[in-house]
Amino acid sequence: MIDLEATLVGIAPAFAYRDGRLHADATPLDAIADAANGPVYAYALNAIAEAYQDFADAFAGQPTRICYALKANDSVGVLKTLLAKGAGVDVVSGGELALALSAGASADKIVFSGVGKTNQELADALDAAVMQINVESEAELERLNQVAVSKGVQAPIALRVNPDVDAGTLDAISTGRATDKFGVNYGDAERLYQEAARAPGLKPMGIAMHIGSQIGDVAHSAAACAKLRTLWDRLAADGVTLRRFDVGGGLGIRYKDETPPSIQAYADTIRAAVVDIDCEVMLEPGRRIVGPAGVLIANVIGEKMAGDHRVIILDAAMNDLIRPALYKAWHEVVPLRLPDADAEWTAADIVGPICESTDKFADSRMMPPLAAGDRVAFLAAGAYGAVMASEYNGRPRTPEAVVQGQNWDFARKPRTYQDLIRGQSAPDWI
Ligand SMILES: *Cc1c(COP(=O)(O)O)cnc(C)c1O
Repeated sequence: MIDLEATLVGIAPAFAYRDGRLHADATPLDAIADAANGPVYAYALNAIAEAYQDFADAFAGQPTRICYALKANDSVGVLKTLLAKGAGVDVVSGGELALALSAGASADKIVFSGVGKTNQELADALDAAVMQINVESEAELERLNQVAVSKGVQAPIALRVNPDVDAGTLDAISTGRATDKFGVNYGDAERLYQEAARAPGLKPMGIAMHIGSQIGDVAHSAAACAKLRTLWDRLAADGVTLRRFDVGGGLGIRYKDETPPSIQAYADTIRAAVVDIDCEVMLEPGRRIVGPAGVLIANVIGEKMAGDHRVIILDAAMNDLIRPALYKAWHEVVPLRLPDADAEWTAADIVGPICESTDKFADSRMMPPLAAGDRVAFLAAGAYGAVMASEYNGRPRTPEAVVQGQNWDFARKPRTYQDLIRGQSAPDWI
């Protein structure tokens, strides 16, 4: 058996058993599951606000702009919680820009990132007057200049520089090695800054990086910061004066038994790199703010034996939470009802109902007895969970609930089959 209380403390401290039932804050997750009538995400908003505050506190005394990476979790309830704390937003598409603005984000706290922005997206960013556009290639620099000149404005930019360091994370979420698709080559950056400084439509404001996600050791961040700082100094000597030192996001969380760096240790690493220069530090954290604060709740449909394997079949599937199928990611799975002390735990594969063998959340997990209608929660599912959901297999998109103390509500309502059909049409010549 597994020490469930200790698992929660280590991975998802906003969640705990009260009277044998799993709660988020003071809200029983069963109440949310009853209303959703299917798989549903739940986010503990206080934990999200606290994680943001931890970042802010760790940089106290240093001018800092924390831009929450909206792609980690784009629920408007989550976003509004962070905006109320004073957060800026890191967006990676025109859609995210529109979402951030509609939630009330002020444009002068929005940074627009992304490896392939279209001219339309660049124009949208300029029209909104965002704080900064992080440019990722020479061609994009030229396009942005043209778009800005055509509008008679100057685009505030940073170059996202690829520092050529390994973030020590999974291949699929590593972004700072020379051959990864992100950013401009380190060796090209100085020349590109010189060109940007001369371009009529561009105003170099900062330098940026983002070396990857789920970073588990600040040594990688330190190495990347050092390279960025070297470049900063060279540019200053060349007469290109910058204001902002944007270190991206990527700080890891615990999913299983990792010991990710504290926010303070991460902050100290960054502060050490800029202690003697006059700059505003920019951060783009996503996972660390929302990951631990979210769970995916699922209902048990039943069990079967596949050969000699115990198989638990859930009503949640890879369309609701794709990380295990996509990255072989680990999520702890805990029952919503605390099992009896003498319950017999056995190893089980945990699967969803989709017609793909990759629709499997876990292999050989020790699980208590579960009957049809019992419920489980996937821990640390607040980041890159609901945002990656799809409607594969005719499964309406996963609803999302937000919790604060005893209050909860849907931030994305359960969808109906009508929602699946809406927006589709066939030409009448079929
Ligand atoms: C994804 C992303 C982030 C956030 O990464 P996390 O690992 O969620 O902190 C920040 N900046 C950029 C440019 C990104 O693409």
